[in-house]
Amino acid sequence: MQPLGLNEIREKYLSFFESKGHLRLPSFSLVPQNDPSILLINAGMTPLKPYFTGAQTPPSLRVTTCQKCIRTPDIENVGHTARHGTYFEMLGNFSFGDYFKKEIIPWAWEFCTEVLEMPADRLYPSVYVEDDEAYSIWRDVVGVPEDHLTRLGKADNFWEHGTGPCGPCSEIYYDRGPEYGCGSPDCKVGCECDRFIEFWNLVFTQFSREADGTYTPLAKKNIDTGAGLERVACIMQGVDNLFEVDTVRKILDTVCNRAGAEYGKDKKTDVAIRVITDHVRSTTMMISDGVLPSNEGRGYVLRRLLRRASRYGRLLGIKDLFLTEIAAIVVELNKEAYPALLEKQTYIMTVIRKEEEAFARTVEQGTEILAEYIADAKKNGETALNGELVFRLHDTYGFPLDLTREIAEDEGLKIDEPGFQSAMKAQRDTARAATKAKTGTAWGGKELPAELLKDTSATRFSGYDKLIDSAKVLYLLKEDEEGALQIVTEAFKGDTVVAIFDTTPFYATSGGQMTDSGALTADGLTARVESVDKDAAGKFLHTVSITEGVLRAGQPVNLHVDKNRRLSTARNHTSTHLLQKALRSVLGDHVEQSGSLVSSDRLRFDYTHYRPMSEEEIRAVEDMVNRVILEDLTVTTRVMKQEDARKLGAMALFGEKYGDEVRVVTVGDDKNAYSLEFCGGTHLTHTSQASQLRILSETGVASGIRRIEAVTGEAAYELAKSEKATLDAACASLKTPEDQLVRKIRQTVADIKALEKELASMQEQKSAGVAAELAAKAEVLNGVSVVVSAITVADADALRTAADQVRDRLTDGAVLLAAETDGKLIFVAMATPSAVKKGIHSGNIIREAAKTAGGGGGGRPDMAQAGGKDASKLADALEAAKNTIKAQLGV
Ligand code: ATP
Ligand code: MG
Repeated sequence: MQPLGLNEIREKYLSFFESKGHLRLPSFSLVPQNDPSILLINAGMTPLKPYFTGAQTPPSLRVTTCQKCIRTPDIENVGHTARHGTYFEMLGNFSFGDYFKKEIIPWAWEFCTEVLEMPADRLYPSVYVEDDEAYSIWRDVVGVPEDHLTRLGKADNFWEHGTGPCGPCSEIYYDRGPEYGCGSPDCKVGCECDRFIEFWNLVFTQFSREADGTYTPLAKKNIDTGAGLERVACIMQGVDNLFEVDTVRKILDTVCNRAGAEYGKDKKTDVAIRVITDHVRSTTMMISDGVLPSNEGRGYVLRRLLRRASRYGRLLGIKDLFLTEIAAIVVELNKEAYPALLEKQTYIMTVIRKEEEAFARTVEQGTEILAEYIADAKKNGETALNGELVFRLHDTYGFPLDLTREIAEDEGLKIDEPGFQSAMKAQRDTARAATKAKTGTAWGGKELPAELLKDTSATRFSGYDKLIDSAKVLYLLKEDEEGALQIVTEAFKGDTVVAIFDTTPFYATSGGQMTDSGALTADGLTARVESVDKDAAGKFLHTVSITEGVLRAGQPVNLHVDKNRRLSTARNHTSTHLLQKALRSVLGDHVEQSGSLVSSDRLRFDYTHYRPMSEEEIRAVEDMVNRVILEDLTVTTRVMKQEDARKLGAMALFGEKYGDEVRVVTVGDDKNAYSLEFCGGTHLTHTSQASQLRILSETGVASGIRRIEAVTGEAAYELAKSEKATLDAACASLKTPEDQLVRKIRQTVADIKALEKELASMQEQKSAGVAAELAAKAEVLNGVSVVVSAITVADADALRTAADQVRDRLTDGAVLLAAETDGKLIFVAMATPSAVKKGIHSGNIIREAAKTAGGGGGGRPDMAQAGGKDASKLADALEAAKNTIKAQLGV
């Protein structure tokens, strides 16, 4: 057999199955589309599920792919076994109710023995114990001797996942020879060691598992196979493990170079090198498919892998950031098979660098704290780290648990896992109780009376269709003297109460959209509905202020939603959907909503993105939203099955749980919707009602999360008016027409600069003149020219300059200048070196002067500065200075 390269094997496989009538499809994204059951694609068949279930018609009944896969459950094996990576490519061929066992088994054999030229006696197929059909095809049709065939049980060779399609598999193992074995006399196919390496799994989906545990044969039987590309290459190239195959080896070598480490010398070092190689491969591919680091879901998988790679880098002694250098090689080696890597290279590198930097900060802080914990534990003779402390490290500092575990293990300590779990649970319970309390109380955070909490019925919301509705008062709640809410039967003019009705058109604050407000009327009664909240049971709690009459429990009333406010809120809410779509168009599909706030006067939208938007990007987003507003697209809402909504491609909030029935808001016509989102809010019916959107700001809220604030409708108009007023005021002050304003401002700024320069030079001339005058009037004492004087200057800098100039004019000179600024005195003293030799000490001179004026200070013999508080003592201070100089010169 030839030592084929990884890229050659990929091509040989795909073209082999093309020759057997298969359609070659490109790898699907690692991010599953419309499949909430998994975080990341983990096998070739996963993205093809709709074809297997019949939900969608496949483009061909025979398909072949090379699929990027991520398997985080294998993470602990990575680097330790020869055959596991978190990232690998799976070669696969699939039959959707077309061919079955008697075709695929001989083909698989043909591919292994004829295309790859693997020696037949090294190949060991396994079959499911009860699958006589597969066994006899291997034995009788292919001709594999019985001592090379193994029957294995359900755990190994039966593929099933809950109820639904399932079936036996047949796995092909390659015997790499006893030198790779574990040495155990029982070592054979199915052993966990790396001698018999499983490289291809043929799954025969022929049953449907029913809820009662029975299996019924499927009318349309499917084939789904998967062969690990790196594993095949590892066998073909006769290397030890999948990190040593040609392309991967180049990445591994780069890691070694960067770390200055030698591969194959030390077991622990080798594991670290392989882990980094693997994790940089998986993260580069994930980021290229739009995953961003975060604290949940696949974002967390990415973050964990990046952090682990960085941590292993530290173990190898790498002190600075290095992951992007390795990622660059990953891009280089895979760009032909995956061209998106090259297109997104800068983006990928930015994401990795930012995460690595952030993690470096976390580690620095956390490692120090952890070292203290470890030292304490050792001192106290403990064998495990206190779970609560470990939790605190995790919770407060974001220090990953697996990292703590690894560091602790290096120090021979375990982690008190039950203690950690219970600390985590305690914190979750508190958090849950807190949110419950928040939704369970309505009015100024007050508890609802227990009697009311017993009634778990929800208020009927009629506000999607109506702005006015009649309702019955079910409960009235009023604060008692202690401020606790109590159930009352009536409320009077001037009272503010919480009212609960059987039905209401008022939207309660929820899902990021703020409350409606409005009015309540009945015979002889008028009241304002100030705001509405919802409790955990779904009761709408209206805060009502009575302006006239009496409100009684049981009474029928009319509820009127403030139409303008509702419309303004709807403008902002619908625009939020348009904004999300525009952000995805301009910035890319990695943009996900991470929060929003919609009120009647503005909107706020938080989203995932790794850097600030440029001016051009902001303009492009704003332009796009405004174009859609002007296009006057219809906005419709419908309630449908969650499954159907997902099929339509409606965007759901990531990580949010939805019920079976969801409400979907569509902008544009159904067939070709501009935006489709899961949403319970109240919306416009046409985009043009929004009038226009103006983005006010774009800022960062957390690492990887940005925030846009914007206004629409009236607020956008008000904004334009106030901008115009500012502009008018500016024009009036500069006495310039608007079209000349910018030119005029630039001109004025230039003029001011020129004048400032002129002023500075005049001041210099002036102070030079003053200095010359002072120097000329110097009194010569014992051979030293002495100047002690007060002058007028703007600040301490100017005083220093003046003193410099005076001193420079003197051959043997001592100068003390004083000035008054802001009601205080400032002093500078200077002396030439020759004067210093003759006994002058500027520091001592200035100390005396400052002391006299109620201040302090000192300095060097040649130069000193000080201040004094009492400006009235100027003359005395000068006198003191003069006397000190005289004393120093002995006169
Ligand atoms: P193992 O028992 O060795 O972990 P598996 O039974 O999990 O393998 P399958 O789920 O049958 O493997 O996947 C099909 C093929 O994908 C395997 O035969 C193997 O070639 C490859 N494969 C599976 N997991 C990995 C991995 N972590 N790294 C590299 N290749 C893998
Ligand atoms: Mg596995």
